[in-house]
Amino acid sequence: MGTNKKSVMVIGGGIAGIQASLDLAEQGIEVKLIEKNACIGGRMAQLDKTFPTNDCSICILAPKLAECFRHPSIQLYTLSEVKDISGEAGNFKVKILKKARYVKEEECINCGTCIEKCPMRVDDEFDMLLRKRRAIYIDYVQGVPSIVTIDRDNCLFFTKGACRICEKVCEREAIDFEQQDEEVELNVGSIIVATGYDIFNPEYIETLGYGRFPNVVTALEFERLICASGPLGGHLLRPSDKAEPKKLAFINCVGSRDIKNNPYCSSCCCMYTTKEAMIAYEHDNELETSIFYIDLRAAGKGFRDYIERGHNEYAINYIKGKVAKILQDEANNPVIVYEDINTSKVKQIKFDLVILATSMVPKKDASKLSNILGVELDEYNFFKGGFYHPQKSSKEGIFLCGACREPMDIPNSVIDGSGAAAKAAEIVMRE
Ligand SMILES: Cc1cc2nc3c(=O)[nH]c(=O)nc-3n(C[C@H](O)[C@H](O)[C@H](O)COP(=O)(O)OP(=O)(O)OC[C@H]3O[C@@H](n4cnc5c(N)ncnc54)[C@H](O)[C@@H]3O)c2cc1C
Ligand code: SF4
Ligand code: SF4
Repeated sequence: MGTNKKSVMVIGGGIAGIQASLDLAEQGIEVKLIEKNACIGGRMAQLDKTFPTNDCSICILAPKLAECFRHPSIQLYTLSEVKDISGEAGNFKVKILKKARYVKEEECINCGTCIEKCPMRVDDEFDMLLRKRRAIYIDYVQGVPSIVTIDRDNCLFFTKGACRICEKVCEREAIDFEQQDEEVELNVGSIIVATGYDIFNPEYIETLGYGRFPNVVTALEFERLICASGPLGGHLLRPSDKAEPKKLAFINCVGSRDIKNNPYCSSCCCMYTTKEAMIAYEHDNELETSIFYIDLRAAGKGFRDYIERGHNEYAINYIKGKVAKILQDEANNPVIVYEDINTSKVKQIKFDLVILATSMVPKKDASKLSNILGVELDEYNFFKGGFYHPQKSSKEGIFLCGACREPMDIPNSVIDGSGAAAKAAEIVMRE
């Protein structure tokens, strides 16, 4: 068992967990960073660019990923999940299940030969199922750690006892089908939860046609569609016929501020739809884009100016309108039927592609983790923070940061990560 009580466990390697880990490590505190996926990075790694600066998302994230990987005070546990916890603030004992990667971490150099030769193709979750990956894969090109992983559920060796091509082609002899899942015990002084968010499934709002109409996609799918490292190599085409769309519509608040689904505001969508419309315009400045909104919540510093720029420099047409439904014509063009809030008239407009800004929702397994940790969730199933100390959970010694607490953008997740790190450090420094 790791016996250093002066260490902190951070659960979740998205931007919030990464920032918390780096802040703690810089103070000389040992960090155990637990990530469920094969690579750290979280949702930010999936984004093309980020508002309000429109910086390339992976370009600003990659140095932090590398710093986390190289920092002598940070120990990464990928493919790992917390199974059990006991003890109290200052002295928690935690059991982690670390799943087998079937690749020797110290041998793999991510040369890609095995990926190229693997015959098994499966839907790629990182690319929102918009392309296929192999059964041996890396989450994304710049993924950290830079090591491949075998997806046991889809690998032909594990499912049919056949193949082993990856083993034959790997000159480093890095493949190890004998690896077993391991249980690791850790002793830590405090814990930070940074498990992030999921995306609302717009199929629940049947009138929007998502899942039935090929040219209705979610905003996260759009991030991948427009990204240079995405399935279309950054050349925006619509899914049904691979034609270049000329008329795009974004619909804000899909599943948010909606008493039938999620009554809360997802806080980022007004800004990221403007960002996505700007990026689309940069790809093709003949594009016509419209954003349907209930009201624009541009509360951050410079956010209102960003929206103004969207209108003035990127020709975005902001339509104050409540979308009732989406229809589809015979050429697979989505037709938005909406109530124009200014005139109270019902209108309809045809588009080539419609993008839904779906709600940020709690992780599916938030209740399971809250039971293991013994911390409370709020009425929506986000982790519940304190009123005066939002990063404090209901249990002493366990802190919260980022979108697992409530929907928030990247700058706020970074602030939150630093806040939680400061609180977690107080406990271990006291010991
Ligand atoms: C379409 C879209 C576009 C956006 N664009 C922008 C933008 O331009 N600018 C901006 O500021 N914000 C943007 N955002 C918001 C941004 O994605 C979030 O602010 C940010 O990702 C929150 O970071 P996080 O670390 O809290 O969570 P996440 O990014 O969700 O990371 C959580 C991490 O925890 C891991 N994890 C989850 N559960 C467990 C578990 N049980 N055990 C271990 N690990 C676990 C996950 O695998 C993941 O790596 C956008 C959001 C969407 C949906
Ligand atoms: S497992 Fe071997 S072949 Fe595959 S990426 Fe790693 S080093 Fe290359
Ligand atoms: S053994 Fe599995 S991972 Fe390896 S090449 Fe075959 S299908 Fe792919």
